[in-house]
Amino acid sequence: MENTGQKMLESALEIIKKTSHSLGLDSETIRRLLEPEAIHEVNFPIELDNGKLRLFKGFRIQHNSSLGPYKGGIRFHPNVTRDEVQALATLMSIKCAVAGLPYGGGKGGIIVEPKHLSESELERLAKSYIRAIATVIGPNQDIPAPDVNTNPKIMRWMVDEYIKNVKVQMSNVKSSQRELNKLKATFTGKPVDNGGTLGRTEATGRGGVIIFQALLAKLSSKFKYQSSKLSIAVQGFGNVGYYFAKIAEEQEFKIVAVSDSKGAVFVREGLSVDTTMKCKKEKGTVAGCYCKGSVCDIRFGKTVTNEELLELPVDVLVPSALENVINEDNMRDIKAKIIIEMANGPVTEEAYEYLTKKGVIIVPDVLANSGGVTVSYLEWYQNMHNEKWSEDQVNTRLKTMMMQAFEVIWKKAQSKRIPLKQAAFELAIERIVKKE
Ligand code: NAD
Repeated sequence: MENTGQKMLESALEIIKKTSHSLGLDSETIRRLLEPEAIHEVNFPIELDNGKLRLFKGFRIQHNSSLGPYKGGIRFHPNVTRDEVQALATLMSIKCAVAGLPYGGGKGGIIVEPKHLSESELERLAKSYIRAIATVIGPNQDIPAPDVNTNPKIMRWMVDEYIKNVKVQMSNVKSSQRELNKLKATFTGKPVDNGGTLGRTEATGRGGVIIFQALLAKLSSKFKYQSSKLSIAVQGFGNVGYYFAKIAEEQEFKIVAVSDSKGAVFVREGLSVDTTMKCKKEKGTVAGCYCKGSVCDIRFGKTVTNEELLELPVDVLVPSALENVINEDNMRDIKAKIIIEMANGPVTEEAYEYLTKKGVIIVPDVLANSGGVTVSYLEWYQNMHNEKWSEDQVNTRLKTMMMQAFEVIWKKAQSKRIPLKQAAFELAIERIVKKE
C-alpha cells in the first residue's frame, strides 16, 4: 500500500506546486509549502490481553502553522504510511485556510488493524500513542480529532490520558480548574458529555448542503431551479452521505439514489432517506431496499451497482465514500451537471479537467466537506472560552462561516475565470503565505 500513500502525496504536492507557480511565489516560499514543519514517528508498546507486549508504529505530521495550531484527525488503519499522513496533513493546511480557520494542517495515524484488537487493547493503544506524542500536541500547538476508524469514544480515552500526563507535569504549578478544562480543547470530536459540541456528527453533511444551496443561488440566473425538481444521487450512506441526503431532503431536494459498499438503490420518484436508513439497518445494505423480487415498496425502486449510480441521469452527484471514484474510466459517462465532492478526493485530476471543460461544476472537497473541521473549531472555541452552545447556535455559526468561505472562492473563480478548485487552492496558499 506504500504506493497509494506515495501517489496521494505526489498529487497533493503537485497541485500546491502548480498553484504556487501560477501565483508567482519564489522557490523558498514554495519549499515551505511543500515540506512539513515536523514529522514525528513514534514506536510504542502495548500489553495485549494475553500478557505479551507488541510494538506499534504511529505518526503525527505537522505541516504548516502560519495560520495557527496544527489541526487534523488521527486514523487507525493497517495501510497507514508516512506519505499518506503527510499528504493528509498538507491538505488539512489548505482546508483550514479555505474555511477561514485560525489553524494550520496536521494529521496522525497508527499502523494497526483495529478489528484485530479487543476493546481494552484498543484503549491501551490509543493511550500509549498519546503518551508518545503528548509533548508535541496541546490546545495552542496541535489539535487532533477523529478520522478513519477513530471516534468520540477514542477521543475520550485520548483526552483523558493527555490531561493525566499534563497534570503530572503541572503538579508543582498552581493551576485552576478552568485552565485544566482548557486542556480538553487539545482534542475535538469528543463525546458531548466530555467537552464535545452539539452538531458535530451532522456537521460535514450539513456544511455540504449549505455550500450546495449557496452555489444554486449563484447559478439561479443562468439555470432556473426548483429544489424539488433537482435530482440528487449520493454515493456512500455513512456519516457524511447520510446527513447530506437527510438535510438536503429536509430542504426539499429530491434524493433519487444512495449507496453503500454493497450496492445502490435508485428510486426515480425520490426516496425517503430515513426509511432507507431504517431498511439498511435491518438488511445491512441499501441495495434491494425498495424491492422484494418484483414487488417494490415505492414505485420505480431499483437496485443498481455503485458504478451505475455514478452514471445515472441526475442533476447532482454527491460522492461521499471513497477517493478516485470518478476517473478516466467513467468520466465520459457522468451525466450530472453539478458534483459536490463530499469524500476526500473522489474526482481524479484527469476527470476534474475533462468534466470542467465539459461545463460540469465541481465543488472541491477542501470547501465542500470543510463543515466538519469548522464545527471542530467551534468545539475548540467553546472549550477555550468555557462556553457551551445550543445546537442552533452551532448550526447558525457553521452556516455563516461556510457561506463566507464559499463567497470568497466563488468571487475569485468568477473574476479570474478559473474553476472553483483552483480558486480554493489559490486563496488558501495566499492566506498561508501572507501570514508567514
Ligand atoms: P463512513 O465510514 O461513515 O461512511 C462511508 C460510507 O461509504 C459507508 O456507507 C460505506 O458503506 C460506503 N462505501 C464504502 N465503500 C464503498 C463503495 N465502494 N461504494 C459506495 N459506497 C461505499 O465515513 P464518512 O465519515 O461518511 O466519510 C466518508 C468520506 O468523507 C471519506 O472520504 C472521509 O475522508 C470524508 N470526510 C469525512 C468527514 C467527517 O466528518 N466524517 C469530514 C471530511 C471528509
